[in-house]
Amino acid sequence: MKRIALIAHDGKKAELVSFVLRHKTRFNHCVLFATGTTGQHINNAGFIVTRLLSGPMGGDAQIATMVANKELDIVIFFRDPLGRHPHEPDVQMLMRLCDVHNIPLVTNPAGAELIIDGISL
Ligand code: PGA
Repeated sequence: MKRIALIAHDGKKAELVSFVLRHKTRFNHCVLFATGTTGQHINNAGFIVTRLLSGPMGGDAQIATMVANKELDIVIFFRDPLGRHPHEPDVQMLMRLCDVHNIPLVTNPAGAELIIDGISL
């Protein structure tokens, strides 16, 4: 089972939830992790998800640690490029560690569609 981290900035949360619902069968065959508020939305949509801290409180850093520990296979992060985020340094760290450890990272819906098609059930 693929271990997938789900994160969305506030302006992108609805889009992430509809993406996950659209691919419900696939996501039901994955182990899901998410930052706090994103995870609440994913949980409300009917999925089992392990929730970490909220992003600004360290959730992205926790996901980054999981990446460094090889505890994740994919990171799906719907970023809002037009918003300001107090935890931008944590986001940069997460993206850097995905590159360091060669963990697939997608940061927009079009990329997520491609990566989800590549997951075999
Ligand atoms: P959240 O954090 O899911 O707790 O909103 C996501 C983020 O902004 O990085």
